[in-house]
Amino acid sequence: MSAATLLRDVFGFDAFRPGQEDIVTAVTQGRNTLAIMPTGGGKSLCFQLPALARDGVTVVISPLIALMRDQVRALKAAGVEAGALTSGNTDEETDAIWQALEEGRLKLLYMAPERLASGGTERMLRRANTTLIAVDEAHCVSQWGHDFRPDYLRIGQLRRSLGVPLAAFTATADAETQVEIIEKLFDGEAPATFLHGFDRPNIHLAFAAKNGPRAQILDFAGARKGRSGIVYCGTRAKTETLAQALREAGHSATHYHGGMDPEMRRQTEHRFTTEDGLIVVATVAFGMGVDKPDIRWVAHADLPKSIEAYYQEIGRAGRDGAPAETLTLYGPEDIKLRRAQIDEGMAPPERRMADHGRLNALLGLAEALACRRTTLLGYFGETAQPCGHCDLCDTPPDTFDGTTAVRMALSAILRTDQRFGAGYLIDILLGQLTDKITSRNHDSLPTFGVGKDYDRRQWQAIFRQMMGLDLIRPDPDRYGAFWMTEAARPILKGDATITLRRDTITAAKGRGPAVR
Ligand code: ADP
Ligand code: ZN
Repeated sequence: MSAATLLRDVFGFDAFRPGQEDIVTAVTQGRNTLAIMPTGGGKSLCFQLPALARDGVTVVISPLIALMRDQVRALKAAGVEAGALTSGNTDEETDAIWQALEEGRLKLLYMAPERLASGGTERMLRRANTTLIAVDEAHCVSQWGHDFRPDYLRIGQLRRSLGVPLAAFTATADAETQVEIIEKLFDGEAPATFLHGFDRPNIHLAFAAKNGPRAQILDFAGARKGRSGIVYCGTRAKTETLAQALREAGHSATHYHGGMDPEMRRQTEHRFTTEDGLIVVATVAFGMGVDKPDIRWVAHADLPKSIEAYYQEIGRAGRDGAPAETLTLYGPEDIKLRRAQIDEGMAPPERRMADHGRLNALLGLAEALACRRTTLLGYFGETAQPCGHCDLCDTPPDTFDGTTAVRMALSAILRTDQRFGAGYLIDILLGQLTDKITSRNHDSLPTFGVGKDYDRRQWQAIFRQMMGLDLIRPDPDRYGAFWMTEAARPILKGDATITLRRDTITAAKGRGPAVR
């Protein structure tokens, strides 16, 4: 199975996160690898996916028993044969692992470094056809760091004696630690090293609320006539009509989607890489195999499905390092569609919840108050100063003190025990005497009718921004009922104020994405 297929079918992700694809490729090819990624950046996928793509067993050395158990549980839930040999195992658990090893079924075997001290472990790993060693928290090999684990020093010996590739992962980026990892784990022979920050400083970032999307795309493309670009659309039909509209406006443009026959698709890819200034209007099917360093712009005619997908798609622009520009449009229909796609998918509940979270993160980015890059990189675990190269750095948005409005909304949420979604809460804020409200006596709440300074659309925009600021989160198991996060408490208590964007709230009159 290809990496993209495994990513989707086993892990349930629609796109690689920054850096993952290169690391996955190197590890799958059996190269010695050192990958430095921030915490939360998605390291585990970088050895789990190659483990599935390769023959034999991957042994994963990790110092944290709870983490190992979590990963094994998640892998098993995804149908992957995995086990952890830890001191906390029951005999049955351990027997099941031996059995799976014996039968050649096991794909990932987690163990704590202490296991390596026992003489039998190496023999066992050899017999079990171990083909890859993955080392999590590889900085634990550093004697000068505060996480030093003496047993990590045995890993180098294990690698030598098994004669298999080793992939080391850490979030610690300082140069000394790297040198020590290379020395202790790889005998000083430099592995393929991945330490790119996630930032792509040459790419200009911009979002706009949909407001006549076809004209918006035509304008954006028109200002970049003659330069190669991609327009991503949510549906196949739209790729064809939009490509037509671009041609009528004098562009060289064609469409691309998964429903076209393979020969046509191949031709289009070839045209794009060889012809100057072609625009391809495509679904997400376009891009994975397209190697063109000088794509000058990427536009989204529809909102991508997650912040990861967004990053991957805009990341196709400007790989040569020269300036590139992006524009992502979003509107209420997109959000409804993306929510429905998640809810109607066959994924288990935890995965759906995570998918809603990744969509929320993208909405938060769409309605960010300050630098997009700071927000985007922050999501992937990196800190960054305002970039001076995004629409919000170019023109800071008009903001207002939203403390009172946010407090009203929080109060409505809490007084109804965090059991309702935006629609119902807004009814309360607006003082609507609906049957549901009167039957629950919610018309006697002090919050009832206090929010009449804003209309329904504006309240929806306020809830959406609150979600983007992570003050509230929708609970997918309770039909999207909002609950309040810890971040909101100081605002409620009057210890903090909150700034909201005015533009999306004004524009919200009759427009703007709907909150669910
Ligand atoms: P790390 O070990 O780097 O701290 P994890 O491997 O635990 O990070 O991943 C952090 C989170 O990112 C997890 O919730 C994981 O499910 C999620 N994640 C990893 N890769 C992707 C991806 N390609 N798309 C979406 N989410 C991802
Ligand atoms: Zn910026």
